[in-house]
Amino acid sequence: MTLAQPPHRKAKALRPGAPRPAKELCSECGFCDTYYIRYVKDACAFLNQQFPALEQQSHGRQRDLAQDNEVYFGVHQDMMAARKHQPIEGAQWTGIVSSIAIEMLTQGKVEGVVCVQNTEEDRFQPKPVIATTPEEILAARVNKPTLSPNLSVLEQVEQSGMKRLLVIGVGCQIQALRAVQDKLGLEKLYVLGTPCVDNVSRAGLQKFLETTSRSPDTVVHYEFMQDFRVHFKHEDGSTETVPFFGLKTNQLKDVFAPSCMSCFDYVNGLADLVVGYMGAPFGWQWLVVRNQTGQEMLDLVMDQLDTQPVMSQGDRHQAVQQSIPAYDKGVTLPMWAAKLMGLVIERIGPKGLEYARFSIDSHFTRNYLYLKRNHPEKLDAHVPDFAKQIVSQYQLPD
Ligand code: FAD
Ligand code: SF4
Repeated sequence: MTLAQPPHRKAKALRPGAPRPAKELCSECGFCDTYYIRYVKDACAFLNQQFPALEQQSHGRQRDLAQDNEVYFGVHQDMMAARKHQPIEGAQWTGIVSSIAIEMLTQGKVEGVVCVQNTEEDRFQPKPVIATTPEEILAARVNKPTLSPNLSVLEQVEQSGMKRLLVIGVGCQIQALRAVQDKLGLEKLYVLGTPCVDNVSRAGLQKFLETTSRSPDTVVHYEFMQDFRVHFKHEDGSTETVPFFGLKTNQLKDVFAPSCMSCFDYVNGLADLVVGYMGAPFGWQWLVVRNQTGQEMLDLVMDQLDTQPVMSQGDRHQAVQQSIPAYDKGVTLPMWAAKLMGLVIERIGPKGLEYARFSIDSHFTRNYLYLKRNHPEKLDAHVPDFAKQIVSQYQLPD
């Protein structure tokens, strides 16, 4: 008896450059580059917001909207600040993500790891791969701060016959992955996520670097850090910092991808384990363990980490409320004023989890306004209840 082929095998991936079902809201997650496109209406993060169902499926429960930490950071059973005793040279932070992936592979928990390297010609051009050696995982370290089609390798997963897989990715990629994970032929899927916000196309990245850095062509790494500055690292090892309040908001307003302007999954709510930085003190990474699968991954590297409990200090509300009209009007401060403001806010401003809430509030209010003005018909269904709860604390302009 021959088993019937799953229906997606007969579907055809979209050609490169062909319009995507989510149109301008597409985050180029790679899903439509595969035959899984058959499920796109259900799976695409920008066509079908389904957090409650996917949280239930992934974590066995939905986030508790009566608990502030769950409203903000999603379902979790543990949170901590951590850093590697011996950071990985050239990683985005201390390399916890790459270290977990390497242990998962070398200890035989998985046969492959979906991650994203860069092309030979361009250090910021993403090249998704299924890594099967520690060297290939290490070659994917550091952020490619651009939209990345990580899911474009999903077809290869099913065809390779792999049964145990780790996927590293950002929220929109993980939402689509979760929607089809039972169709990949896997026995076990592990999902290691990073938070993600304000991503850009490769052209948008160039504009950001040119407007913000003193030497755009030599930037190898950058991050919006907890000290309210963007830190650029250059090829020669030098560091450049630019205060958030000195960014040329008027020129940068249209640089972020429309997908990221309408995203409410900053903290990657469907990953098993999330590794970021924004809920941790400066210099530390921030870990959110969502379920037992996440704990299993973290256990593999605990002996390589220093850890400390998460902390929270300050009150973000006034700063967020004031920043809403300032961003809306594209206000840019002169550099001396921006530096001064940065110093003051660094001293008395929100820290730890309160900094993370500051960043989430600022982005969710901005994104809510963007959606309301540009896609009002999507507003109600696309904005999840937890985000509506967060946004409702603030007064928004029309
Ligand atoms: P590394 O060991 O250096 O590994 C990095 C991993 O990221 C690699 O495995 C690679 O496959 C993957 N990766 C790189 N680029 C992409 C991409 N474009 N899409 C999907 N996967 C990718 N954290 C916060 O706390 N707040 C933020 O606002 C925030 N914004 C981010 C924005 C973007 C676009 C990205 C990609 C990440 C962001 N992060 C944010 C996560 C943070 O910057 C670090 O990636 C995370 O802390 C892991 O650091 P690491 O040293 O352990 O990673
Ligand atoms: Fe397809 Fe992903 Fe774009 Fe949605 S975001 S249209 S699933 S490529």
